[in-house]
Amino acid sequence: MQFRISTGSRDQFVDVTANVREAVAASGVSDGVCHVFVPHTTAAVTINEGADPAVTRDILAGLDRSVPRDGGYAHAEGNSAAHIKASLLGSSETILVAGGKLVLGTWQAVYFCEFDGPRTRKLLVRVSED
Ligand code: ZN
Repeated sequence: MQFRISTGSRDQFVDVTANVREAVAASGVSDGVCHVFVPHTTAAVTINEGADPAVTRDILAGLDRSVPRDGGYAHAEGNSAAHIKASLLGSSETILVAGGKLVLGTWQAVYFCEFDGPRTRKLLVRVSED
């Protein structure tokens, strides 16, 4: 299943847990594996706390401190910080499915991570039966 994710700022986390759950339900898979993939070089997918929005703000701020926007990079497009952040977080996540449900910890949410927005992006979800 493919979703379009619209982002509104340069760096942004979008909670896509509901999208992933929708894909699991539509798949009809009871027990298996859910793959979430982002086909972009300046965006990522990650799993982290969904309860306190300060956590994702802190992650974005921490990434900004670790990967400054003006870092004397070679890439002429000028968005190397976005490429580096995308590689640090990665382009995919794998989540187990049990009893037709996504197996996530109580505080976990799945996030689409934008690092070069605003844009409209793709999120791909595939669910496989064991
Ligand atoms: Zn680039």
